[in-house]
Amino acid sequence: MNLKNKLTEQTKHYDAVVVGAGFSGLYMLHRLREAGLSVRVYEAAKGVGGVWYWNTYPGARCDTDSIYYNYTFSEELYNEWTWSERYSSQPEILRYLNYVADKFELREDIQFETRVSDAHFDNSTNQWDVNLDDGSVVTAKYFITGVGVLSTMNIPEFKGKDSFKGEAFHTADWPEKLDLKGKKVGVIGTGSSGVQSIPEIAKEAEHLTIFQRSGQFTAPANNYAYDEEDVKEIKANFKAMRRKMERTYDGIPIDRPNRSVLDHTPKERNKVFQEAWDKGGVPYLLATYSDLKTNEKSNASMAKFVSSKIYDLVKDQELADDLQPVDYFGTKRPITHIGFYDALEQDNVSFLNVTETPIEEITPKGIKTSESEHDLDIIIYATGFDAITGSLFKIDIRGKDGTSLKEKWADGEKTRTNLGLTTAGFPNMFIITGPESPSVTTNMPMAIEQHVDWIIDCINYLETNKIAAIEATVEAEDAWSTAVSDRANKTLFVKTKSWYTGGNIDGESTRFPIYLGGMPKYGEIINNIAKNGYEGFDLTYQEEPVKN
Ligand code: FAD
Ligand code: NAP
Repeated sequence: MNLKNKLTEQTKHYDAVVVGAGFSGLYMLHRLREAGLSVRVYEAAKGVGGVWYWNTYPGARCDTDSIYYNYTFSEELYNEWTWSERYSSQPEILRYLNYVADKFELREDIQFETRVSDAHFDNSTNQWDVNLDDGSVVTAKYFITGVGVLSTMNIPEFKGKDSFKGEAFHTADWPEKLDLKGKKVGVIGTGSSGVQSIPEIAKEAEHLTIFQRSGQFTAPANNYAYDEEDVKEIKANFKAMRRKMERTYDGIPIDRPNRSVLDHTPKERNKVFQEAWDKGGVPYLLATYSDLKTNEKSNASMAKFVSSKIYDLVKDQELADDLQPVDYFGTKRPITHIGFYDALEQDNVSFLNVTETPIEEITPKGIKTSESEHDLDIIIYATGFDAITGSLFKIDIRGKDGTSLKEKWADGEKTRTNLGLTTAGFPNMFIITGPESPSVTTNMPMAIEQHVDWIIDCINYLETNKIAAIEATVEAEDAWSTAVSDRANKTLFVKTKSWYTGGNIDGESTRFPIYLGGMPKYGEIINNIAKNGYEGFDLTYQEEPVKN
């Protein structure tokens, strides 16, 4: 589609168009407005919240401590909002994001129920022509995506999928009024979404059958209601907490000793692992040793510890065999559980290991594995997401030579960015939580603030210096992508098929498109580039600067 032909004198122009109104889009809008720019945010949903708008399945909650899993750009906001529990539930997080939207009066610049379908860069005007699903077109100097890394559902193409006569849906598309009482329910998948929803579904359904492909590493949540006095103290120490978050590898301010598992005797290790296990939450296990993701032996030691815990958690030891995690600890995002293992042993719950007996097809009546047929009223796909690039690829994004982003990044091996924020050939486009940034391995609101702050500094620089366009050079992009891969190749991440690599869907990709140097190092790199007048970028001036 040639968007240029759709432009008229009435076509609306904004300084910036932002896609998405989750944590990313909301903060980006706030900062762009502060900078005095005109902005329009387009959001497919009826409301703000992103992930927390869509994922309404029972049991949905964050697995990063709530006191860290929120914005920290405003101390006033931090003081005004009080989380009720350590791992807040989806409704509470959604209320928080609505509160943020109201506090900063963001809604007036957001157009809901509107999907961006195409965005094409026009060389002649140095602006983006943006097509919306209502057929209208707008133009903008800056095109900024906050489309989310886990916002495009993955429903595997099982044979006969559409023949099922009952109700079928994905966890991120939970029907508003759903009564599970008296129903025979099947859940496919035991990632975080499956593990969170299964105990709640098991409470309601007449019978629940779980179809698990791979056993997963988990940690207990140890969820609890926050104590009023503790919250007061946390708020009083906001500045120190924020500083520590900035200096911590993943934006979660817990201590991470720089030591190898192998420095300790097996007894000492188990003590360290146990202490972290008792605290609850995956980040605490990950923080125990610094070589868990690089050293096979160290990783195996943690894997053995978690595996033994699973044998303790379930009475039926054959079930425990089936639940044993595969791969390495932490190379798929580990899962925090509340009541999952107890639910599996309820009388109304059956568990199937579909590695041994794969799902062969969905039939009009239910799910057929290589061994048995299961009659169901409802099938729930807890099968995850087309992660990281899925939502970017749903938009026809075309750069300066008409090249499509999807074609440029044709397979995981070709995903190339400069700093995870920009990509060569796509001037004035910024990607919040893009591939090759550290975002998905961090406390994401913190990563989002880091990205948005860099983008706004860059835009302020462009506006102040009358620069019409900024574009990553191919050389800088190649250097960044190579550095990202070199780092990743030294870790066990590349040996695992996960949603990080896209291997959850195609079963093959192993390139790990995430910067693993951590948030502080990443911040230092991107800020130095800004300080040095955007090294690695071509700048096109509106008027040539006067040279002395
Ligand atoms: P999203 O929240 O995904 O928002 C993107 C928005 O863009 C969506 O509303 C979508 O509708 C909209 N959009 C996409 N494409 C278009 C388009 N073409 N046109 C218009 N609108 C569009 N991270 C953590 O750090 N800790 C956690 O505990 C945690 N828990 C999570 C729990 C769940 C169930 C999931 C799915 C993810 C979780 N995450 C967690 C990761 C989560 O993705 C981030 O924390 C964060 O919410 C991402 O915010 P975002 O604004 O970047 O993206
Ligand atoms: P996921 O981790 O990708 O898990 C998907 C599950 O579906 C896995 O068990 C997977 O098995 C299974 N599956 C996929 N395709 C299948 C197929 N063809 N046949 C059988 N089984 C199949 O997805 P998710 O659970 O939605 O979580 C995704 C990410 O979202 C998380 O890692 C996390 O970052 C975020 N999240 C966080 C929370 C939280 O606790 N705060 C909650 C939900 C989501 P395999 O393992 O074998 O691929």
